Amino acid sequence: MTSAVQVSDFQLSPELVEFQQKVRAYTQEHLKDAARYDAEARFPREAVAAAAKLGLLCTTVAEEHGGSAMGNLASCVMLEEINSACAATGVTISVHNSLVNSLLGKWCNEEQKKRWFPKMVTGEWLGAYCLSEAFSGSDAAALRCEAKKNGDHYVMNGAKLWITTGSEADLFVIFARTGEDRVNGISAFVVEKTWDGVSVGKKERKLGLRGSPTTEIVCENVKVPADCLIGEEGIGFKIALDTLDGGRLGIASQSLGIARAAIDLMRDHLGKQVDHKGRPNASQPDQWDFADLASDLDAYRFLTWRAAVLRDQGVRCSTEAAMAKSCASRLANRAARRAVSMLGLAGVDGSNPAERLLRDARITEIYEGATDIQRLVIARGLLA
Ligand SMILES: Cc1cc2nc3c(=O)[nH]c(=O)nc-3n(C[C@H](O)[C@H](O)[C@H](O)COP(=O)(O)OP(=O)(O)OC[C@H]3O[C@@H](n4cnc5c(N)ncnc54)[C@H](O)[C@@H]3O)c2cc1C
Repeated sequence: MTSAVQVSDFQLSPELVEFQQKVRAYTQEHLKDAARYDAEARFPREAVAAAAKLGLLCTTVAEEHGGSAMGNLASCVMLEEINSACAATGVTISVHNSLVNSLLGKWCNEEQKKRWFPKMVTGEWLGAYCLSEAFSGSDAAALRCEAKKNGDHYVMNGAKLWITTGSEADLFVIFARTGEDRVNGISAFVVEKTWDGVSVGKKERKLGLRGSPTTEIVCENVKVPADCLIGEEGIGFKIALDTLDGGRLGIASQSLGIARAAIDLMRDHLGKQVDHKGRPNASQPDQWDFADLASDLDAYRFLTWRAAVLRDQGVRCSTEAAMAKSCASRLANRAARRAVSMLGLAGVDGSNPAERLLRDARITEIYEGATDIQRLVIARGLLA
């Protein structure tokens, strides 16, 4: 999808600045309860509904299908804002836009788009992306869930694990085995929550992102109509990896949002430490770390936006997206850890978001490709 808005002179275009301000206003009004969502492990339903009303669930969908067609760069700007306030809401919106809607838009035929987009762009339905299984995380091609062709439908059996928004989603994109070949035997399907044999299994108890339900999705003899196959048989793995390039931009932006929130906490803390003339008086080591983290935030934001612009231009960005995700997610962890230690007791007592940021940040280095895997993707891209 080509975005009408671009980075020029290292500044966002006026349209994107306006969009950023609109999203910032949304976070201030609707994400005030982030700490409660976390404490109660409660899905931020109202916040997601409000985002849908503002058109934030359709940024990767073409206008002809009811989307805003703003593209990946705008999605990154939006996700940094949302995640700086609430990472549970952020990951819900990231998966819906960057994984599910963008996949439907790129790989589905017209008839399929007309069937699913009306509900997906308005947020009446939420989407989930179901690739991982008990024995298939980093090694996604090892998946075992199977879909056997039987006349005009497939019979799907298997269990998907660690599915974001699992218990709340209405539409699942499920990757299943339709053939023996490890890679070319994988196909992608849309499966609806209400179909016989589809159920939500165990909900995970997590370190962070507690407001985002992560569940098992079980398929037992699910009759999947043949016209719910996405693309053609055997290209599921290609679809999965291509989609993850966009998804990683979402998680890079989530990481930037978490890092920014941690750096803002440090700024408040250090800003209060002044001498008798009102000049900054914080310890030099604290100032050094603060300066380094703030510099990295700017650097990795540009890394993320570069990959987003490439994807908006239809250029493959696997290496660039992996660079963005790997750098930004590690920054989120460093920044949150430093904020907690800089704040001392206040860093761990829950009186401010520092400890939640630290717990949420941890997950950005695991999902949509663990950091070690991202580093392999980067090396492979550079050595090719
Ligand atoms: C909160 C959360 C939400 C998630 N949401 C989704 C979702 O919506 N949909 C979905 O499909 N999945 C989801 N996942 C699953 C996620 O994508 C996997 O956890 C991730 O791919 C890692 O797989 P794994 O947990 O099996 O770890 P493993 O694959 O066992 O990897 C563990 C560690 O081993 C190392 N490692 C593994 N393989 C290699 C290798 N070849 N080379 C070097 N090092 C290696 C890495 O350091 C890695 O961190 C989610 C996970 C979490 C935690």
